[in-house]
Amino acid sequence: MTAASSGTVLVLNSGSSSLKYQVVAPSSGEVLASGIVERIGEGSGHVKHVAHGAVVKREQPVADHAEALRLVLALFDEAGPSLADAGVRAVGHRVVHGGALFSAPVVVDDAVVEEIRSLIPLAPLHNPANVTGIEVARELLDVPHVAVFDTAFFASLPPAAATYAIDAKVAAEHGVRRYGFHGTSHQYVSAAVAAHPAVSSRTVGRPGPLRQVVLHLGNGASASAVLDGVAVETSMGLTPLEGLVMGTRSGDLDPAIVFHLVRNAGLSVDEVDTLLNKGSGLKGLAGVNDMRELQGLIASGDSQAALALEVYLHRLRKYVGAYAAVLGGVDVLTFTAGVGENDARVRAGVVAGLGFLGLSVDPALNDERSSEARVVSPDGSAALVMVVPTNEELAIARQTLELARR
Ligand code: ADP
Repeated sequence: MTAASSGTVLVLNSGSSSLKYQVVAPSSGEVLASGIVERIGEGSGHVKHVAHGAVVKREQPVADHAEALRLVLALFDEAGPSLADAGVRAVGHRVVHGGALFSAPVVVDDAVVEEIRSLIPLAPLHNPANVTGIEVARELLDVPHVAVFDTAFFASLPPAAATYAIDAKVAAEHGVRRYGFHGTSHQYVSAAVAAHPAVSSRTVGRPGPLRQVVLHLGNGASASAVLDGVAVETSMGLTPLEGLVMGTRSGDLDPAIVFHLVRNAGLSVDEVDTLLNKGSGLKGLAGVNDMRELQGLIASGDSQAALALEVYLHRLRKYVGAYAAVLGGVDVLTFTAGVGENDARVRAGVVAGLGFLGLSVDPALNDERSSEARVVSPDGSAALVMVVPTNEELAIARQTLELARR
């Protein structure tokens, strides 16, 4: 059976100034086409469409998301494959914030669009673009549309993990709680770990639930603790700012730093927001947000870059230790996303000193380059360390087609 005949999904990821897309076959994972429109609304748009092994690029202004999607659809017509030939049965939308309203993917109707819009105060940077993307796509594409939420996997967090210790009435009134993000990735990766032969064979006969820690280390970064497939802790909170040191986000800090900067540094609340979300993390410490560039600076003897990596690794070790306490031990620690999948030094740096938890890497296995899910801890270790490539688009496509077929 071809990908097209068993049905494919157009996955759309609308950012504030970008639109990423993929046509994916949920059954095989085959990507029939993919692309990105960047710098939407910025005067000099950039479009890239990849299909049939060929790349089509355009430089042209793209006024808004409606124009971006029209442009993408025109490219499918011109450069192929046509959406009909590709067997597109549904559109899957990545939506960043589902708030307390959505704990699972949902078929989009007018009421769902309004509910996602109502969550804009919780995600002012992300949800507006998600709403626009859904509205435009529903106008242009007459197939079922499904919203898949980045927060949904973490709807299962126990109250003790989801609750911030602030005035309970204020929190309830303003939706202040831990929601967590990157949920599609943590769910996909933790399920792939559980299904991996090295893990499934190991758990046979072993009493107790499977205790996993997943580190999603991309430009954004987050950790999760997963007990038998259910998320019980995660590092991102009300917004994606909390937790690990990221490319441009600070992660955890004393909340009073915000008051201090507003009172004493002459910064407005919006300026502090921008500082912590866009000008902090590795970029704030070392001037670059990209891990490859940071490693290059370290190799050239840049001491500030070396410090940035130490801060990054220290935070990660703290989280793994904390999650081991939450889970009562760790069976599998898994690295995923751009840094987690590719940077052996970061993986080795995280587990250095975590031998007391049974966590270590085999240098040869850890240094091997591969795009497969794999074990990098030494044979016979008390706990496994794994590298599992994430695939959020495939996860969204699978959830979308399943709902669209019902
Ligand atoms: P996002 O989806 O959050 O934008 P990715 O998951 O693509 O991010 O991860 C981007 C990060 O992965 C960047 O910091 C980049 O430097 C890092 N990365 C990608 N390839 C490598 C590599 N070979 N070695 C080290 N870091 C890498």
